[in-house]
Amino acid sequence: MFDATSEPIIALSHIDMNFIKPSGGPLPVLAGIDVTVREGEILGLLGRSGSGKSTLLRIAGGLIKPSAGTVLYRGKPLGGPAEGIAVVFQTFALYPWLTVLENVELGLDAAGLRSDDAHRRAMSAIDLIGLDGFQSAYPRELSGGMRQRVGFARALVSDPILLLMDEPFSALDVLTAETLRTDFLDLWGAHQLATKAVLMVTHNIEEAVLMCDRILVLGANPGRIVAEIKVPLPQPRNRLDTAFHEIVDEIYAILTSRMTEAMGAQSRIHGGLVQQLPEVAATRLGGFAEALAAPPFEGRAELAQIARALTLPSNRLFPIAAALHLLEFAELEEGTIKLTAAGRVLAHSDIDGRKLLFREHLLRFVPLAAHIRQVLDERAAHAAPRERFEYELEDHLPRPEAVKTMQTAIDWARYAELFAYNDRTRTFSLDRGAA
Ligand code: ADP
Ligand code: MG
Repeated sequence: MFDATSEPIIALSHIDMNFIKPSGGPLPVLAGIDVTVREGEILGLLGRSGSGKSTLLRIAGGLIKPSAGTVLYRGKPLGGPAEGIAVVFQTFALYPWLTVLENVELGLDAAGLRSDDAHRRAMSAIDLIGLDGFQSAYPRELSGGMRQRVGFARALVSDPILLLMDEPFSALDVLTAETLRTDFLDLWGAHQLATKAVLMVTHNIEEAVLMCDRILVLGANPGRIVAEIKVPLPQPRNRLDTAFHEIVDEIYAILTSRMTEAMGAQSRIHGGLVQQLPEVAATRLGGFAEALAAPPFEGRAELAQIARALTLPSNRLFPIAAALHLLEFAELEEGTIKLTAAGRVLAHSDIDGRKLLFREHLLRFVPLAAHIRQVLDERAAHAAPRERFEYELEDHLPRPEAVKTMQTAIDWARYAELFAYNDRTRTFSLDRGAA
C-alpha cells in the first residue's frame, strides 16, 4: 500500500489542452488538471470516451506538450519522452516479421547496449510476463492475450520507473483480461518490477477498483477531475466483497449524476441539436428494458447490481442507460435506473409496438433526428446530404464524437423507420418504409 507522503514520480499541474475545431477555434479537451502519482501507487483515470484520458496520458509520457501547465517527472520538467517512462497501449503494433524476442527488444533503447545484454534483458522480460517458450514465435501465431503480453514485455523490458497504461485490457476477452490483470498485480505486489508508479486509464469501473489505490474521475467537455476515490482495500482484492461493491456503487453514482447533468446541459444549447448520443444500437434498448422490468428488479435497479446480473461491464451499460434516460424510457439518478411508464410499455411491447413507441420518443427527445426528418419532409426531393447536419455537430463536438452521434442517430432512425440513409451516397432520404 502506498503512502500519501511518498515521493512524487510524476506531477502534472494546472494542465490545459486545446485542440483546434474544424472552424478554427480552440477545442478545450483538458482544463485545470492536477495529478500527482506517488511512489508505490497505481493511480486510475476513469472517464467516458472522449473525456481526454488518452490525451492526459500522452502528456504525462512527454509524447505531447500541454497548452498550459507543468509536468514534473521525479522533480524535473519533462521536455519530451524520457528514459524511465514506458507506455502500454490498448493494442500494440507488433512487427509481424519479427519474432516475439525481437519485438520485445524494440522496447530497449538499443543505443549503447551490447546485443547480448539486450537479448538477456528481453528474455527476462519475456519470462516475467509469462511468455517463456514463445520467444521465437511470430505475432500471427499468438492469441490476442499473448500478443498483449508481448506489448507488456516491450514496455517492461526497459525497467521503467513510471508505467503509463491506456486501457491495456480493454481489447481482450473477459477471461484473458482478468488473467493478465491478476498476473500484473502479482508482479507489482511481489515487487518484481522496477516500476515505482503506475498511471492507468480505464473506462471500466470494476477494473479501476480492482487495481488502483486511488481513482480520479474525469468529466468531459472539457476534461477535468470531478472526483477522487481512494481504494483502501488490501490486494489481492475480491470482486465479491461488500467493501468492493460499495466503492463500485459510489463510482456509479458519481458517474450517473455527471452523465445526467451533462445530458441536461446539452439539451439546453442549440435546441438540443448538438446533444451527444450514446453509442448503442436501438435493438438493445428494448431487451434491456425487458430485463429491468422483470424480477428481481421490477423496473428499478442499482446500476452496479444490474451490471453484475447481466454481466455487462460498465462501459457497455452506460450507453444503454444513457440512451434510455435520454429517450425518457428510464430515469437515472444516483447510480439507480428506474423505468418510466413509457419504459414499462416498451418492455412489454412486441417488436412493432416497440418500433412505434421508439419512433415517438425519438421525435420528441432527440432534436437531431426530428430536425433531419423535418428537413426531409420540407424538401421536394425528400433527400439531404449528411454533411449538412454533421458540420453543425462537428463545430460543437470533437470530430469522433460528432461521427458517433451521427451514426447513432442513423441507427435509431432506421430502427424507427423515421428516415433512411445511404452509406454510399451519404444522403438521408424518406424511403417508402419511412413515409
Ligand atoms: P479518451 O481517451 O478519454 O477517450 P482522448 O484523450 O482520446 O479521450 O480525446 C479527448 C478529445 O480530444 C476527444 O474528443 C478527441 O476527439 C479530441 N482529440 C484527441 N486528440 C486530438 C487531436 N490530435 N486533434 C484534435 N482533437 C483531438
Ligand atoms: Mg482513450
